Amino acid sequence: MNLLEEIKKYLIYFNEIGLEVIPTTNNLIKFLQSENFLSENGLDNLKNSILTCEKCPLHRVRKQAIWGEGNINSQLMIISEYPNKDEDFYGRPFVGQIEDLLKRMLQAIKLKKEDFFITHAVKCKTPGGRPPEKEEIEACKPYLLKQIKYIKPKLILALGFTPPKIFLENNPTFSSIRGKVFKIKRNISIIFTYHPNYILKNPAVKRMVWEDLQKFRKLYEELFKTS
Ligand code: SF4
Repeated sequence: MNLLEEIKKYLIYFNEIGLEVIPTTNNLIKFLQSENFLSENGLDNLKNSILTCEKCPLHRVRKQAIWGEGNINSQLMIISEYPNKDEDFYGRPFVGQIEDLLKRMLQAIKLKKEDFFITHAVKCKTPGGRPPEKEEIEACKPYLLKQIKYIKPKLILALGFTPPKIFLENNPTFSSIRGKVFKIKRNISIIFTYHPNYILKNPAVKRMVWEDLQKFRKLYEELFKTS
């Protein structure tokens, strides 16, 4: 049940027990008018839209669309590519071997999965695990951009070849952009590196990923004034 539905339920309850005036405080009024309150409801609506979306042909292939998981208040986001068949089955990003590797990658920079909100660039799995088509990425792009708008991350770690197709124009080569810091808005930085699935199949990229993660950590310390 979302927050608005819960409030409605309480209002009906107050009405049923004969209360005509609801006791309130300035703090409650401020909270109801606050951006966080609006964002939470916006996020609930957005989540429903994603879970029921049929905007592109991938809805016929998926078991379920995947919203994401993790801490929406942390100001850190991980954006993965598109769900694989296990993620599609369990309805969450990063399961099995790729989850273990992601955890180890984050441990190496003194962070945990729980420090992030984690989602996919494209919310539904593709036939046979092929990369999503341009039209599918375009159809799904507004969902990711809205998640970013509501969650307001300061720093994003983007994994794999799909996220650059959302954020960067002219289709640059991955090798030319990985490990560099891009701004997707004045106050949102993003670093691209290889996806754990790719690392498992191509161990030679481990060193590059290590370098990219060190840059991510440095930026994290600068932005959050920690070490
Ligand atoms: Fe909708 Fe995105 Fe799934 Fe396509 S991939 S059906 S646009 S949620």
